[in-house]
Amino acid sequence: MLFDDLFAEAERQLNVCNSCRYCAGYCPVWPALELRTAMTQGDITHLSNLCHDCRDCFTACMYTAPHEFDINPPAIFTQLRERTYAHYVWPARVPAVLRGRRGLAAAFLAIGALLVALSVLTTGGAVFAGPQTGSAYELIGHLLMIAIVAVPALWSVGVMFTALARYWKDTHGQFRDLLNGRAWAACLNQSARMTHQTGAEEGCAYEENEPSVNRRRAHHLVMYGFLLTIVSTTSAAVEENFFGQQPPYPYLSVPVITGTVGGIMATIGCVVLIRLKKRSDAFQTTPTMRRADYGLLWALLALMVSGLLVLLTRTTVAFGPILVVHLAAVIVAFGIMPYTKFVHWTYRVLAVYKDNLERTRSRRELVKV
Ligand code: SF4
Ligand code: SF4
Repeated sequence: MLFDDLFAEAERQLNVCNSCRYCAGYCPVWPALELRTAMTQGDITHLSNLCHDCRDCFTACMYTAPHEFDINPPAIFTQLRERTYAHYVWPARVPAVLRGRRGLAAAFLAIGALLVALSVLTTGGAVFAGPQTGSAYELIGHLLMIAIVAVPALWSVGVMFTALARYWKDTHGQFRDLLNGRAWAACLNQSARMTHQTGAEEGCAYEENEPSVNRRRAHHLVMYGFLLTIVSTTSAAVEENFFGQQPPYPYLSVPVITGTVGGIMATIGCVVLIRLKKRSDAFQTTPTMRRADYGLLWALLALMVSGLLVLLTRTTVAFGPILVVHLAAVIVAFGIMPYTKFVHWTYRVLAVYKDNLERTRSRRELVKV
């Protein structure tokens, strides 16, 4: 569907919803819609990212096909979110060498080969020498290791920030409005608890159109597991740079405990989400978003499992080769991150923030009246 047609179709459906208002209590999309009598493309983009795909509105709706209104908010919002991810990212396309499955496989193999070559050149081939200290740095040296991971990581962060700035300009406008502390506090609270994924009281209807809390719990496992792995990496850097403690760290240390617990949590969460996706209704999404969802979940699973294997094998001869596999996966993941479904949470956080900003303001305006 062309962009203008997509927005016209979304506007048509949302006008029906704005007259109906049956779903008002399901999620913040509906009260936000009520605030708008005329909608711009920025408004519609904002509403689509505020939607958390719980699917309760579709399950409750009496105007879905075969009714002539043919209402399907989860599907139209999914198409709009796809458009958001593609429209705001710059450069607009993933680098040519990383395109498609073949591109990714080739990049993964090339980076793996580069790591092995660097290991041979800088350490005389520590990757094949079996465990020495069990430290990742023994593979290619400290500074080189940091540089080879930091370059794609900084690239990803830069591309994602640029995309978010363009998104905010289109959906809101004023950058100074990003400084509202009360709206950020509410936004972070709601995001941490994922309150917008609860749908109606019994949970969201993602799994076979039946209410369930499984999706929200699995999301929590992935989110907090992922955050713990970041705590692990950060605490390792702090121990090394501020306390002079070199890796590998003992099993009962902050980096190892947080990395292990986080890896296990995220692994379980990904497995549950893959299972739930198989049981979800394909009519309420798009084939491309379904592929993107599976791609993200399998990629996270591969990263978590390979990270756990690095820890498990750090006293064995498998340590070097498994570390190469894990590092190559991390570097490729950083390279393509802004072009994957990974970015969905960044737009959602901004949409939730904007929603809280609007609520604060409209309450203030009501008080004035
Ligand atoms: S999704 Fe259906 S029931 Fe819900 S507000 Fe829209 S038209 Fe009404
Ligand atoms: S799918 Fe859920 S989150 Fe999205 S608009 Fe419908 S009720 Fe709201």
